[in-house]
Amino acid sequence: MVYKKKNSFINLTGEKNAPVKLILNKIEKLDISNSKQFNDKQKKIFLKIKDELLFKTNNEFNLTNNIIDELNITDLDDWPNYLIHRYRYEVYPDKKILDEYPPYLQIEPSSICNYRCVFCFETDKSFTTKKNGYMGTMKIDLFKDIIDKAKGNIEFISLASRGEPLVNPEFEEMIKYTDGKFLNLKINTNASLLNESKCHAILSSGVKTLVFSADAADEKLYSKLRVNGKLKIVLKNIELFNSIKEKDYKKKKIITRVSGVKYSDEQNFQEMEKFWKSLVNQVAFVEYNPWENIYIQKPNNINTSCSDLWRRMFIWWDGKVNPCDTDYKSTLQIKQYNGDLSETWLSENYQLIRNKHLNDKRQSLKPCRSCNVI
Ligand code: SF4
Repeated sequence: MVYKKKNSFINLTGEKNAPVKLILNKIEKLDISNSKQFNDKQKKIFLKIKDELLFKTNNEFNLTNNIIDELNITDLDDWPNYLIHRYRYEVYPDKKILDEYPPYLQIEPSSICNYRCVFCFETDKSFTTKKNGYMGTMKIDLFKDIIDKAKGNIEFISLASRGEPLVNPEFEEMIKYTDGKFLNLKINTNASLLNESKCHAILSSGVKTLVFSADAADEKLYSKLRVNGKLKIVLKNIELFNSIKEKDYKKKKIITRVSGVKYSDEQNFQEMEKFWKSLVNQVAFVEYNPWENIYIQKPNNINTSCSDLWRRMFIWWDGKVNPCDTDYKSTLQIKQYNGDLSETWLSENYQLIRNKHLNDKRQSLKPCRSCNVI
């Protein structure tokens, strides 16, 4: 099975409430032609977006349920900027367009995780054994430097990659530092370490989307898939988050999502939706990729270029820059973070990998040759 990352998101709950017409009417009235905030290239992109959305010129950019949900929590003044960056995220990887910065940056607060999910590389002992050097948490100074360099250049940021972000002891200071700096800041967590203080930190920061990773609607299956996890604790923590939000942050605009991996025949996605939808705004699933054994999987003969090479860049806790976290041991490592995100994104090492993918040589690269992402 192959999958496109951007299409692997299935929003089960947003659709019914999506006021598409209303959104389109607002977009039609937006005009940035005389704005000093945008350069000519951005103005051109915005005109293209309006054409696309209002007249369906190429059908390359659509208002998905997720985009509608994100627009609904974004100030109208910020819509043009949000849409320009969303367009870069959606369309550039398809068209293999590179500009100065990645459309999306994932920063890893921690590679350590308290879970051992069956489909995850955290089950690989050669990865988690401390002496092999993969385990650690990002220091606050490195984090702040990355945030300073990303601000104003990249609007889509995730604080998540290989481990559980809440494991980082400086997590609260980290999200405080991001406040007001990005249009779309996301955190992925298994929610097991959420407590009152962390809920307040998240709700008083610039986090726009909070993703809880879970793949089941009952304790037995949950613990089978999310090894070391207890659904009871996760539920209690998400309820705590909701009650703090309701009590102290009523006006806070934040999307909450449960996101699971489609892994087992025992999962019932309708049950999942029913179970979770009273607790979160969205329920979604991603396709399984053989993350946990990618380095020993047989080549799969896929030769299509991987869209992630044009979509996202990862910076790990120790400053390693990698093109994806499927390659969790960093065999594709681009370089060490040097304070210049643009130079890294356009660097020779990155280009070499992209060119191999473009020239039907993906199968010569490990682990790309066993990976399902296109
Ligand atoms: S391993 Fe290769 S093909 Fe898979 S996501 Fe990473 S860069 Fe893309």
